[in-house]
Amino acid sequence: MMDVSRRNFVRKAAVATTVLGTVSIMGSGNRRASADNRPQTAVVGAGEQRQDMENAPEIRVKLEGRSDPLVARAFAILKDRIQQRCPARVVEVTTDAQIILTVSPGLPSESYRIDQDGGAVRIGGASGRGLIYGVGKFLRTSRYDGTFRPSPWRGTSVPQCSLRGMYFATHFHNWYHEAPEAEITRYVEDIALWGVNAIKITFPFINLQDWNDPETDQAVAMVRKYARITKDLGLLFGIGLNNTLFTGAPEDIRAVPLPDPTHRRGNSGNPICPGKPAGHAYIMGNIRQLFERVQDIGLDFVMTWPYDEGGCACETCRPWGCNGFVKLSRDITRLGREYFPELKSIMSTWMFDTPPEGEWKGLSEALKKSTEYVDYILADSHEDFPRYPLEVGVPGNLPLLNFPEISMWGNAPWGGVGAHPLPARFQHLWDQVKHVVAGGFPYSEGIYEDMNKAVVVQFYWDRDQSAHTTLAEYIAYEFGPEGTKDVLSIIDVLETTAGCFYQKKPVNADAVRHASELANAVQEALPVWARQNWRWEILYLRTVLDRERFVGEGLETATAEAAMLRLIKIYHCQLETDDPYHHRVRPPLRSAVSRHGEY
Ligand SMILES: [Zn+2]
Repeated sequence: MMDVSRRNFVRKAAVATTVLGTVSIMGSGNRRASADNRPQTAVVGAGEQRQDMENAPEIRVKLEGRSDPLVARAFAILKDRIQQRCPARVVEVTTDAQIILTVSPGLPSESYRIDQDGGAVRIGGASGRGLIYGVGKFLRTSRYDGTFRPSPWRGTSVPQCSLRGMYFATHFHNWYHEAPEAEITRYVEDIALWGVNAIKITFPFINLQDWNDPETDQAVAMVRKYARITKDLGLLFGIGLNNTLFTGAPEDIRAVPLPDPTHRRGNSGNPICPGKPAGHAYIMGNIRQLFERVQDIGLDFVMTWPYDEGGCACETCRPWGCNGFVKLSRDITRLGREYFPELKSIMSTWMFDTPPEGEWKGLSEALKKSTEYVDYILADSHEDFPRYPLEVGVPGNLPLLNFPEISMWGNAPWGGVGAHPLPARFQHLWDQVKHVVAGGFPYSEGIYEDMNKAVVVQFYWDRDQSAHTTLAEYIAYEFGPEGTKDVLSIIDVLETTAGCFYQKKPVNADAVRHASELANAVQEALPVWARQNWRWEILYLRTVLDRERFVGEGLETATAEAAMLRLIKIYHCQLETDDPYHHRVRPPLRSAVSRHGEY
């Protein structure tokens, strides 16, 4: 009943191909690529395929609980993603529906259920948010091979971890910093479909002089924008805070630099000593002003962070992680609850006991007295997970979150050569903690590690779902199921190659060449909607750039430069920049300029 006629699709697909033309850089013999001239579909995309939709078959959807804005939003997302992938008109009806969207409060928290209701498929969520997760599962397990084939998946799915976050590092003019609001909104929808329920960003005190800095209002506007986008989707929103404030802070309240003999903690920013009364007042006064600027939108959580940007080693504050930091986190949370009474507090322990200072033990002692101002403990490191919470226990017996770094490992500039999938790495890291964590916040610098996001968020949803299973579902949904096996092979080569490169081991040139050939073959068979998808593009471009740098003549060939230029467009990078850190997130194109140097 829901099938769109095959003949009809074939005719329409031919029209679409003619309109869009062929994809220049993708042709195997096309060395002199002109990726720059391609339609800029990037993250918004999809509009081009919607011509001639008037005659497409209807898919009839009934909305129960229409007054809930998230039910309407779930419908809008469903409609958009189906119409992007095949000729169909997804319409709202009140009778004779083929799909029913509903909220079923009897279901377990945040869960969804997909079942049969007569001739219709019913997608029910425990809440609006649960409904969006159910729509995500339905979309990923439906098929779009010219005909919309609704998902055969039936059952109830309940998330196992309660806080399934994502940390967007909104800085350095990376994608999160630069993308238009429509792209960001669509992207947050996409990761919500995978099960994310919380977004965290940071207010960039580190880059700003004071409240009068001309860029401060923009930074406040950015926080408000992300808060609005996130909360409109029914997700939780929060920010990170610590003792790093404006660059214009008075000198006499600055922190004493941290001992950092292993050079792992970082010492950037302008940390203030909260042990000095004037320093404490300065920190609280400025954080209060920030809370006032977002009070009307609301914060659901704050995350306090000990190091990297932050810390103080003075007599009063040390050892920072179990002394000055604990007091400051308490005071920030207490202040926050004046504005947001339900505010949750996540205390990070990142780089605790590096070097050993008894921070974990000290935090355990401190939280024995009270956990009133801490709701979660977050832990992670640059490599393997810290042993203390696994072997001794989580301070305060609080829920434990992880913080997988999904963006930077083996990959500089970050995303500079395209997609950066690392499923085996994250499977390995997850297996260390999956029995104890209640969720987490992967650290993200951009969209090039979109696959890593899906993998980690699905770990949070179902602790035992393998990275491989998630990627197979991802590939079938984003690129069509036919190429799943080949794309998984490509991803395996990309990850192995990145690991060898990072560890300065020889790269397997034959495997790199084979992955590139495989990508060309997959691409030839892709439907137009998938070929146009930026997710495919960045994966494909990675195979091109790996081939150029490991078996070709390097990243200065015309092919490599065209590929990087296309990535620069997808990421909204600046070809000329005044941002001294932008080179960290920009593909390493020879002609790109950093006017303030590269630090
Ligand atoms: Zn201090």
